[in-house]
Amino acid sequence: MTQKIYDTIIVGGGPAGLGAAIYSARDRFETAVLEKFYPGGQILNTDRIENYPGFEDISGGDLIANMYGQAQKFGAEFKTGTDVQSIKKLADGNIEVNCDTGQYLSKAVILAPGSSYRKLDVPGEDEFRSAGTGVSYCGTCDGPFYKGKKVVAVGGGNTAIEEALHVAKFAAELTLVHRRQEFRATKVLVEELMEKVDSPQGNIKLQLDSVVTAIEGDEKVQSVKIQNVKTQAVEDVDCDGVFIFVGMVPNTDFLQGSIELTDAGFIKCDVGYLRTKTPGVFAAGDCRTGAAMQLVTAIADGVNAAMMTKQYFRDVNWWNEPVSDSLTPGGW
Ligand SMILES: Cc1cc2nc3c(=O)[nH]c(=O)nc-3n(C[C@H](O)[C@H](O)[C@H](O)COP(=O)(O)OP(=O)(O)OC[C@H]3O[C@@H](n4cnc5c(N)ncnc54)[C@H](O)[C@@H]3O)c2cc1C
Repeated sequence: MTQKIYDTIIVGGGPAGLGAAIYSARDRFETAVLEKFYPGGQILNTDRIENYPGFEDISGGDLIANMYGQAQKFGAEFKTGTDVQSIKKLADGNIEVNCDTGQYLSKAVILAPGSSYRKLDVPGEDEFRSAGTGVSYCGTCDGPFYKGKKVVAVGGGNTAIEEALHVAKFAAELTLVHRRQEFRATKVLVEELMEKVDSPQGNIKLQLDSVVTAIEGDEKVQSVKIQNVKTQAVEDVDCDGVFIFVGMVPNTDFLQGSIELTDAGFIKCDVGYLRTKTPGVFAAGDCRTGAAMQLVTAIADGVNAAMMTKQYFRDVNWWNEPVSDSLTPGGW
């Protein structure tokens, strides 16, 4: 029996994968979504999304339930509990997708495996994070919930400073803990930060050469232990929440050797059309270079990649063409 060849296989059923599935299936392409756990991705971890346009307040679960239902209605096939372990471009142009449960073939693949927040790996982190009681990895998402509160933020890169500045707009007081004396972030951001630190009206304090070694509290976060890495002195600092901004880890180990990745593991692709270096394979969402790491941008990526499969199906040689301002894969 000949093996079925899908038009588009989507790896990952998070927001990017679901956005791609809705558009691809509605275009009547044979579409399958391969998802390691169950549809939803990272956003299932939050009960309150305030920045998804059109919804002032919606839970991750409700939004995903709607998107999942929408993709199913248009005919997308969901293969949940399917861990994709490698992909391979075949000589006939199709792409082989190898999973723990078997093998699939497809004309195009949209990679949307997302990424995970890098953790501190300290006592209390997992407990308070999974209970949603005071540990967050996203200042843009959760900053407003700390209005008038005392928070600790951890990190020293661009994202850490941008996110800390954002959270400080809401918090009464923010202590930024960084393990070195110097920040890695760009000068302009460091200058902006220092203005807030030095100003009498500023609400940001720095704890340099320091690390957080434990997050403590009864039912919610109440304090952190901060250790100075030079003197080894440990101090308890009271706070209502901890923001951890120490980077993202893309879920792309399974692509090593088959798809071109950056040193940090993000999938390399062109930003206009989301094409990887492997013809027929697109990247969407938090897994790709330059991702904004937001719900709305991840969904938009999935949609964009699904639209671009049409261009690839029309003409496979389009893959090597530069990004053009006259391309309109278009239509709704
Ligand atoms: C607690 C929390 C709160 C957030 N709040 C907000 C918010 O309020 N607003 C906002 O804009 N953003 C928010 N975000 C960020 C947002 O959730 C992400 O930007 C978005 O989920 C990225 O979508 P994605 O589809 O690219 O990746 P993900 O959501 O990471 O989904 C990837 C999916 O791929 C699956 N997968 C991974 N590897 C494989 C594999 N090998 N085989 C099969 N499946 C695989 C995963 O299981 C997962 O389901 C929040 C994130 C978190 C963690």
